[in-house]
Amino acid sequence: MTCKVKVDQETCIGCGACEAVSPKIYKLKDLNGEQKAFAIKEEVEEVDEAKEGEEVCPVEAIKIDE
Ligand code: SF4
Repeated sequence: MTCKVKVDQETCIGCGACEAVSPKIYKLKDLNGEQKAFAIKEEVEEVDEAKEGEEVCPVEAIKIDE
């Protein structure tokens, strides 16, 4: 099973929590001088890991579609 991972960079505050718990799924990058999280791949097989990142996000910037 796979799921689709989307990070809304407008909402993301760059806290790094998603990357800390799920480094295979999320990566912080510089976007116009601010740290923002991105999904490394749009569609992933690691559904549980993707969801862990979604759960720890304090601003609900991550959306998972199964
Ligand atoms: Fe951005 Fe949420 Fe990840 Fe923090 S946990 S870096 S706010 S997407």
